[in-house]
Amino acid sequence: MKITDVRCVEYTGSMPHPGPLWEQRLRRPADIYPDVAAIGPRQLPEREDGGLEVRSIFLHVDTDEQVTGTTAVLSADQAQCVMGTLRPLLIGADPLATEKLWDLGYRSMIHGRAGTGMLALSAVDCALWDVRGQYFGVPSHVLLGGPTRDDVPAYVSTLGDSLAVDDVARRTRELVEAGFRGIKWFPRWGPDHGHAGVGKVVELVATVREAAGPDVEIMLDAWSSWDIPFTVAVARETEALRLRWIEEPLPADDTAGYASLRRLLGGRVQIAGGEHEYTRWGIGRLLREDLLDLYQADPHWGGGISEMTRIGALVSAAGRPFIPHGQSLQCNAALTFAASPGLIPEMEYLRRLAPLYQHFLAHPIRPEGGRIAAPTASGLGMSLAADRILDARPLG
Ligand SMILES: [Mg+2]
Repeated sequence: MKITDVRCVEYTGSMPHPGPLWEQRLRRPADIYPDVAAIGPRQLPEREDGGLEVRSIFLHVDTDEQVTGTTAVLSADQAQCVMGTLRPLLIGADPLATEKLWDLGYRSMIHGRAGTGMLALSAVDCALWDVRGQYFGVPSHVLLGGPTRDDVPAYVSTLGDSLAVDDVARRTRELVEAGFRGIKWFPRWGPDHGHAGVGKVVELVATVREAAGPDVEIMLDAWSSWDIPFTVAVARETEALRLRWIEEPLPADDTAGYASLRRLLGGRVQIAGGEHEYTRWGIGRLLREDLLDLYQADPHWGGGISEMTRIGALVSAAGRPFIPHGQSLQCNAALTFAASPGLIPEMEYLRRLAPLYQHFLAHPIRPEGGRIAAPTASGLGMSLAADRILDARPLG
């Protein structure tokens, strides 16, 4: 079997949605600059048919065996690196030799150990796992030793939901009613809001706890945008509300800060992170310094499905849990359903982003009753819904 072509295609479609997709955006590291902080969420343009215009870049790996491996979605940078740097290495190669192709890609990009290069290699690896699953006629998790269970709990991430108190309470009740047993919120406030900002975060958590009841897990994601004093204050003042974890309170490079933070918190709340770290070597450093309670490397960014199996082994050996970041539900399902529930206990479901990222898929993954079922389609289950594609533009 040989790879005959590697294509990145931008699909355009129209997604019905009542009103704008985003009610709010997450806090970003650059929000320390007031003019940047004042910028709201970037909305999708509205089309004449009334839907929101969706543009998604997909990667397709064609073979001479009538199998095409697919993964999505890619950023423009990721696609450019795939097409310019990795494509020449892949044409004519055996797509089942994922270890060789990962190693060849890694060794061929000296700057590709992190950032865009690793994102590109990750996407290629995921598409090759789709080829492999389709070639053998089984879901990709079966090739990795799954299924380890019939379904898994999904926790829901409310990225993009309004943070107004009444909206938070109503949304939380709806999500609990829908069966979710864990809810993650993205506070817009941070250190520049001073103690009033801590107060707003505490109010958010209190509102969620009140609406969700005592048994639902509550998590916060600070997306690398807090500092040590703000995080310690939030942890102290929400202790009675039982936060499950605070995610990425500090920039990913601030490993000394994470070490200090963990000492200062003394186990008061768990610290999660790793979605902006790359490969076994990057996660391995965090593990050696014991910087996180929970690891969230993303297969679509941190090295692909192949690399996540190695990361999973490292995290397991350190006795920590691993809940892959929710960029690609298909890749995460391949890993999750091949892992011990003791290592990967659940999946993340981004309730606004996941439908957007899966808009062009014939069989998107959706939680039912707060749980995600083991995929049954061969490969990653990435077949496209042709009637949703209004335009397809190959990228050079
Ligand atoms: Mg996150």
